[in-house]
Amino acid sequence: MSQLEEIEGLVLSVRKHRERDYLVKLFTREYGKLMFFVRGTKNPNFKLRSVIQPFTQATFIGDIRKEGLSFIRDAKNVEIYTSIQTDIFKTAYSTYIVQLADAALEDRKPDPTLYHQLVLGLEAINADRDPEIIMAIFEVRFLHYFGVMPEFRGCVFCGKTEGPFDYSSKHHGLLCPAHFHEDERRLHASAKAMHFIRLFSVLSFDKINTISLKKETKRDIRYVIDQLYDELVGLNLKSKRFINQMHQWDSVLKRKDD
Ligand SMILES: [Zn+2]
Repeated sequence: MSQLEEIEGLVLSVRKHRERDYLVKLFTREYGKLMFFVRGTKNPNFKLRSVIQPFTQATFIGDIRKEGLSFIRDAKNVEIYTSIQTDIFKTAYSTYIVQLADAALEDRKPDPTLYHQLVLGLEAINADRDPEIIMAIFEVRFLHYFGVMPEFRGCVFCGKTEGPFDYSSKHHGLLCPAHFHEDERRLHASAKAMHFIRLFSVLSFDKINTISLKKETKRDIRYVIDQLYDELVGLNLKSKRFINQMHQWDSVLKRKDD
């Protein structure tokens, strides 16, 4: 007989199961990524329905099974990121970050540090921080979880840790100018973009609110990260394609806050 326990969790995805029930994937602080079964009711006031939405964080009261599905019975301390849920741009960035986490994380592997970072990241987007920057930070971090983190600490040949640097896919890491000749097909990335990508790989999450970047720098960072993901990760998430499309509208519509 299993016992109910309290766990901190962030909703990654929700899928309807049969008529009234739900399959909810949570990233929990205590157990890592886990799939839960939530039994629905005919009652329109069914309390859990408002809790099991993407980007919701709560203390769930559940029955955790060692194998198969676990069960959510109740929830408290519910935090719904309303600003994310009601803004199409914020929804798009947050969806991608959460799907990336889902793709990168193994089931049942606890990672309380990453859990805390995801919560801080979503809180920052909810509080109007630049979602493009938050997204880039997570993309760089998740390279580690995908097992393909390049050498960002210094030049792969001499270990020099002062920039400028370029990126070499041939050598899976940084090149300093003295070693640019080691890869004639190096990325020719902007030195500034490389600087921020290195920073994102080690940045402490309580500092994420202090970074602000020019549009041009963000574009250069995006170019490098997209190259890294195409080459090393090879995911084709719908949420990422949607963000690319948004950038195209953006240049057409010229959003008024620019
Ligand atoms: Zn070097």
